[in-house]
Amino acid sequence: MKKKIKNLFTLILLFLFIILKNNLVLADQIENYIEPEKQSNFDYGKSKRRSSETQIIVTANDYASEVGEKILDKGGNVADATVAIQLTLGLVEPQSSGIGGGTFITYYDNTKKKVFFYDGREKAPQNINQNIFLKNDGSKKKFFDAAVGGQSVGVPGTLEAIFKFHSDYGILKWKDIIEPVIDLAEKGFHPPPRLLNALNKDKFLFNINKNFLFNGVTNNPKKKIFNHEYSKTLKKISKDYRVFYEGSIARNITKKVGEYKNNNSLSESDLKNFSIKKKDALCFLLPSKVKICGPNLPSSGTICIVQVLKIIDYIKKNKEIELSDILDILDFVYYLREQFLADDTFVRVNIEKLTNIDFLIEGFSKYKAKKKSFLAEEILNSTSHFSVVDKFNNVVSVTSSIESTFGSRLFVNGFFLNNQLTDFSFKSINKNKSLIKNRVQGGKKPLSSMSPLIIFDPDNKFLMSIGSPGGKAIISYVSRVLIDYFYLNKTLATSIKSPNYIKINGLVFLEDNSLKTELNLKSKVTSLTSGIAIIVKKKEKFYGFADHRRDGTVR
Ligand code: GLU
Repeated sequence: MKKKIKNLFTLILLFLFIILKNNLVLADQIENYIEPEKQSNFDYGKSKRRSSETQIIVTANDYASEVGEKILDKGGNVADATVAIQLTLGLVEPQSSGIGGGTFITYYDNTKKKVFFYDGREKAPQNINQNIFLKNDGSKKKFFDAAVGGQSVGVPGTLEAIFKFHSDYGILKWKDIIEPVIDLAEKGFHPPPRLLNALNKDKFLFNINKNFLFNGVTNNPKKKIFNHEYSKTLKKISKDYRVFYEGSIARNITKKVGEYKNNNSLSESDLKNFSIKKKDALCFLLPSKVKICGPNLPSSGTICIVQVLKIIDYIKKNKEIELSDILDILDFVYYLREQFLADDTFVRVNIEKLTNIDFLIEGFSKYKAKKKSFLAEEILNSTSHFSVVDKFNNVVSVTSSIESTFGSRLFVNGFFLNNQLTDFSFKSINKNKSLIKNRVQGGKKPLSSMSPLIIFDPDNKFLMSIGSPGGKAIISYVSRVLIDYFYLNKTLATSIKSPNYIKINGLVFLEDNSLKTELNLKSKVTSLTSGIAIIVKKKEKFYGFADHRRDGTVR
């Protein structure tokens, strides 16, 4: 009998040890992904807050804000400014976004009073191997084994998106908009703090790229960087942007991807066939009659944020909202995302049902009863968000990304190629043997969390533009500010500076110890480096806010 009890006791101990160990590994994994770049408080001498009655620009870097301002001052509109800002970000913030990556543009056309979006998300090569992110034994590759090198590179959509947006709406000539960026690439720029920080920390970049533009930069941070390759690329693009999709640049991209393994079959015809069109934005009316618009799938951002706000709105009727409620709602919404959302040209997604309040409330109470914890995936922290209002009161909200910091690390013709295909689920089949919606398929776009939103007041007048980088955490960052503003009576200035939080796969991460006192939950404090950019309109005046955690400015 004694022996039996002893055995049982040993078994229980073993069981507890395994659970504890798994949780620690999981927490460590997520934390790694959450904290690729520490926050930077460098001030370019420009404000993080500004107001204006005519035009306003918020970007992640002052070189980009400045170029955007010049374009608007020359008589350009938000479409012109978007081209100049994005191409400048690709130069001065190359670790986050650029023509080697993908972009979602949400646009409010003030003449037609309509909201559109351009889906410049990367596409998987047509002949991709669906097991590309699996090891020979069928288990998942480690994130950086998958991300670094050629296998994670999707067909870049950013250039196609900004070109289409400009040809639909631009006023200034394409060539004239690109000129100041060519100038900056040739005259050089001082490496911004976040670029220096990223160069300092990256473990892969300098092994893959020999004789590299960024060699020695961190030893000489005051010296200017001259990206002549990028200026050559821009000169070609300013004559004919198709050179990127079916000319010498397309050839260089496929060659580079081929050189750095692995079984990625990115071909010249994948690039040639990439094309996008303007689409109606996805808009939802909240019970308060506030309207939220943003990109549709393959971004989950608009859908998930609306799900969060609808549940908050419902709960708020019966009780005060507490942080623990918000965290549970986020966790539930991430679960729905995982289960139901993917590129809807490949899988059926019932958005109406997924955003229906009865469905959400029923699902949320079941979730709460089960308190299930789900396996974590990557939360990355690169990407860039910017927003512009022009003197015609058109608005643009843009989130742009090469995914991980420096993307695939492959550098070609002066820019980095993305690793966006790692946003697919690495496995195709669930534990219960059903197909995973966001699995790798040829010609499909990986599910995104990017959330460039434009929000309207109950009179259907422009109220706010908002977005952030942060991978899956974007949904939490943007939701937090909107909850603060719409439901907790916080000003935007206070909210943007308040600590971030996220609950995903049952695990809670907080930016600040102060939040711990509000919670009776196991949680981990870590840096959650959002890069929120907001423009809000109040009494005929625009107010811009840039996140203090990154290098952004308002002009
Ligand atoms: N790849 C992410 C997405 O599209 C963005 C990466 C980031 O924000 O760091 O959801």
